[in-house]
Amino acid sequence: MPEAATELKGVPGEWRLFAVERFASNSAESRVPQVPELPLTGGCLCGGVRFDVREAPVSASYCHCTRCQRRTGTGASAQAHIVPGSLSVTCGEELLRAFEPADGFAKVFCSACGSQLWSRNPQNPAALSVRMGAFDSDSGVRPSVRQFTAYAAEWEPIPDDGLPRHPERRPPDA
Ligand SMILES: [Zn+2]
Ligand SMILES: [Zn+2]
Repeated sequence: MPEAATELKGVPGEWRLFAVERFASNSAESRVPQVPELPLTGGCLCGGVRFDVREAPVSASYCHCTRCQRRTGTGASAQAHIVPGSLSVTCGEELLRAFEPADGFAKVFCSACGSQLWSRNPQNPAALSVRMGAFDSDSGVRPSVRQFTAYAAEWEPIPDDGLPRHPERRPPDA
């Protein structure tokens, strides 16, 4: 057990404060972006692929397109848009494969376990959008926009979260 937990055992007052802070961080405050500890690390489900992101991601978004529905098996995909060139694969480069549609971004995944890792802009291969679930810890950004909402899954209503909705692709600056 971490030392902190042992210390708190004997100090009920501080423990209660700790519990209150934890509760707060799981509710409204979790929506406030935090400064992430760098480098961010992440990887795939089988652990074969590992990566580092050296700079704080710039923004994040939800995509409701049917390709994201297919590749994730879910209603929408959340991705962090990172500083171009800030990601390094530290392990398992040979496991990476990509689905490269003629008219869109490449979808990079681990060929051993199928985990979705990031998308790659064919016009600018250093510009990657990392699947937020691939990070080991809080990437610090929160999705601020939803795109391709015209194709959203019927079975999962879009949450009433106030985020801007774009029926097609989000504008480059959104
Ligand atoms: Zn894997
Ligand atoms: Zn999509």
